[in-house]
Amino acid sequence: MNLDTTILQKKFGKNIIINEDLSKYSWFNLGGAADIFFRPEHKNQLIEFLSEIKQYNHKVHILGAGSNTLIRDSGFKGLVIKLGSKFSETILLEKDIMEVGAATLDRNVSNFAKNNGISGMEFLSCIPGSIGGAITMNSGCYGSDISKILLSIQIIDYEGFEKEITRDEIKFYYRGTNLPENYIILSAKLKGAVSSKQLIEKTQDQLIQRKKDSQPSQIKTGGSTFKNSHDKKAWMLIKESGCDKFYVGDAKISEKHCNFFVNGGKAKTSDIEKLINKVKKEVQLKTGVNLDLEIKIIGDEK
Ligand SMILES: Cc1cc2nc3c(=O)[nH]c(=O)nc-3n(C[C@H](O)[C@H](O)[C@H](O)COP(=O)(O)OP(=O)(O)OC[C@H]3O[C@@H](n4cnc5c(N)ncnc54)[C@H](O)[C@@H]3O)c2cc1C
Repeated sequence: MNLDTTILQKKFGKNIIINEDLSKYSWFNLGGAADIFFRPEHKNQLIEFLSEIKQYNHKVHILGAGSNTLIRDSGFKGLVIKLGSKFSETILLEKDIMEVGAATLDRNVSNFAKNNGISGMEFLSCIPGSIGGAITMNSGCYGSDISKILLSIQIIDYEGFEKEITRDEIKFYYRGTNLPENYIILSAKLKGAVSSKQLIEKTQDQLIQRKKDSQPSQIKTGGSTFKNSHDKKAWMLIKESGCDKFYVGDAKISEKHCNFFVNGGKAKTSDIEKLINKVKKEVQLKTGVNLDLEIKIIGDEK
């Protein structure tokens, strides 16, 4: 049974876009179109949408800020959901606990915490994603990650069933969790420690500077391409294997950090994927290590 897009457009108006170009939602600035793109303004609209699509067997993908996602040139044959404005609200629940909408950008969470004298969230100012993405990826840097400040999450599954899941019920591992793929994270409760705004600001500035010194900025990338899940960091393995100058078309490797793969402006996703495979193969050949992908690739292979 095919989904009637005119019904969706009638019900959800401007929040439904047919054949939406996804490249503008990815940090790589790459990718084809989504058959159906939905941006719910608030939870009730999302619930209504999920109930509408329930009977069809369409593929669904939840997009956060797109800073860890590479979208294939052929686009996404299915439904892409990107949470809208009401999912970016942040509330102070207690002096050291806040509730954050899943679409809130990490740096805004870090700043909200700073302004309320809550420490422990400074590292979020260095990660360019959303809280939903940070939880899914168990994102972190400089010794911190989201699992260390998370109390619970509120989710809704594709069937429309809602529940709160506590941190202890989630298995976190390096850049991932065991959360099922059909869960949409709506919000999260985060706990820090009471501290002074000045101290927090100082730590935040130090971390941001550390990032600037070691990683490239203002480029079209997805951050670390491979996970640091082996004895040696992925960038070391790439460098040692002599891959740091590899390129495919306009898909390049950053000179500043060789685990950052970059769209030089004219690359296609297929070029980035070819570069990924080329590096993976060479590293395996030279070091015996099988690098694991950190970035998520979505869309169909042609
Ligand atoms: C320049 C740069 C620097 C980076 N530095 C770091 C770093 O220091 N540390 C680090 O860990 N990462 C880093 N990253 C990677 C990236 O920023 C993180 O993985 C980030 O948390 C991804 O969030 P996002 O919202 O962009 O997720 P997306 O890329 O949009 O999605 C990532 C995954 O999360 C899922 N997802 C997103 N939102 C939801 C939701 N509401 N419910 C369910 N699933 C959801 C998606 O389906 C997908 O599987 C960097 C990336 C860049 C471009």
